[in-house]
This record gives sequence, C-alpha cells and structure tokens, in this order.
Amino acid sequence: MIVAILLSALAMTLIVGVRYLLTSGAFALATRLRHPALYAGLDKQIRKEIGWSLASAAIYGVPAGVVAWGWQERGWTRIYTDLADWPLWYLPVSVLLYLVAHDAWFYWSHRLMHRPRWFRIAHAVHHASRPPTAWAAMSFHPVEALTGAFVIPLLVFVVPIHVGALGVVLATMTVMGVTNHMGWEIFPRFLHSGPLGGWLITASHHQRHHQLYGCNYGLYFRFWDRLCGTDKGLGDFADRRRRSVPGGAAGDDPGRQP
Ligand SMILES: [Zn+2]
Ligand SMILES: [Zn+2]
Repeated sequence: MIVAILLSALAMTLIVGVRYLLTSGAFALATRLRHPALYAGLDKQIRKEIGWSLASAAIYGVPAGVVAWGWQERGWTRIYTDLADWPLWYLPVSVLLYLVAHDAWFYWSHRLMHRPRWFRIAHAVHHASRPPTAWAAMSFHPVEALTGAFVIPLLVFVVPIHVGALGVVLATMTVMGVTNHMGWEIFPRFLHSGPLGGWLITASHHQRHHQLYGCNYGLYFRFWDRLCGTDKGLGDFADRRRRSVPGGAAGDDPGRQP
C-alpha cells in the first residue's frame, strides 16, 4: 500500500512538472514570436524560475498523488465520474465554486506573505523575478508552495465535482498562472478593460502587483482586492517593452520593498 501511495505521489509530481514545462514552454515560445526581445538578458533568472517551479511541482504533486490514490483505491473525495450524478447546471457552478474558494485562500495567504517576516522567509523568491516571465508561474519558495499545495486536495473532500470539471479547474489554474506572469496581455481588450475586466484578473492586473507590491493580491477575481481597497487597477507593459528595446530604458529595476 505504501508503495502504491508513493508511486501515485511520484506520478503526480511528474505530471505537474511536465504540465508546467509544456505550458510555460508554449507561452515562452509565443512570447518569443510576439515580442522577441522581451526576455533578453533574463536567462539566469529564468533558470532560477524553472528550478523553483520544479521543486514546487513535487510539493504540489505529493498531496495530489496521495488524494488521487485514495480516490481510486478507497473511494475518498467527492469527485464523481458519472455525469448523471449531479444536474448538468452544476458543472459550471462547481468550477466557479473551486475558483472562488481558491481565489479567497490565495488572496489572504498572499497578503500574509507580504508581511515583512513572511516576505523574507518565503515570498521574496517569487518577487525575485524582476520582471517575471512565463517560467515564473510556479516559482515559489517551498514554504509558499506548501501553502498552496493543499487547497484543491482538500476541496475535493468537501465540494462535489465531476472529474472533467476538475480538469477545467486545473487547466484554468495552470494557464492563468503562466499568462499572468508572461509580461504581455494575451486576452482581448474587452476582457481585461471592459466591464468583465473589472472583476477578472489577467496579466495587466498581476503585472501591477509585481511592479508595486502592496496591492492586487488576487488570483482569478478582483473581488477581495476591491472589497479590501487593495486594488490598484491595471498596469501597462510600456516600461517593460522599453526595457527590451536596445537603447531603451534598460538597467536593473531595483524593485520596491513589500
Ligand atoms: Zn506573481
Ligand atoms: Zn506577491
């Protein structure tokens, strides 16, 4: 039994790691095609981002692997496979419930991570990416990765979800994690700057978090930021593009204190 659990944890670690490499790799390639010089001079930083992200893959993979084993072998969790078990309207609702719960956890734990002590211990690693790239999606200190590793594995015990809907949640998590750090906005203007954008987080919003630190803490939705007065609106990428143009305002951004 122990061997089966270990194998499941190992398999999940590999899945999370490969998923990261493929997704970040694909968006890094898209960046190269769209803004060829955007990551110029960042090779050393990107190597660190990949190293921290692969360590995070193990931290995310182990609890996920244990829960996956329990789901398959012991009937743990409220993940269901038969579409008839719950009404069809519940499929999108369950996805939304997971995203809202994860977003709330992320907002408050992220805000805590910006307290000086926690920032020094853990979150400084994520902000060492200046500016972040598509490879920074899981670039977290192990302490921070741990705070995120149990959210979905615990939620599946509480909130029923179809296995396909869970796939949608995980895909959303992965794609948004990468695109929010990519350094340019991939979503159409109506989505981030229209009425919907007032509530949704894309790269333009998270970019400002990496520029100013003490604001824009959310993950998917701007709800908590707006409610708590920490929403500082959308950033633009003009500085960053200048930086990547030869002769532009290059040089190290010394960053700001949290
Ligand atoms: Zn970030
Ligand atoms: Zn932060």
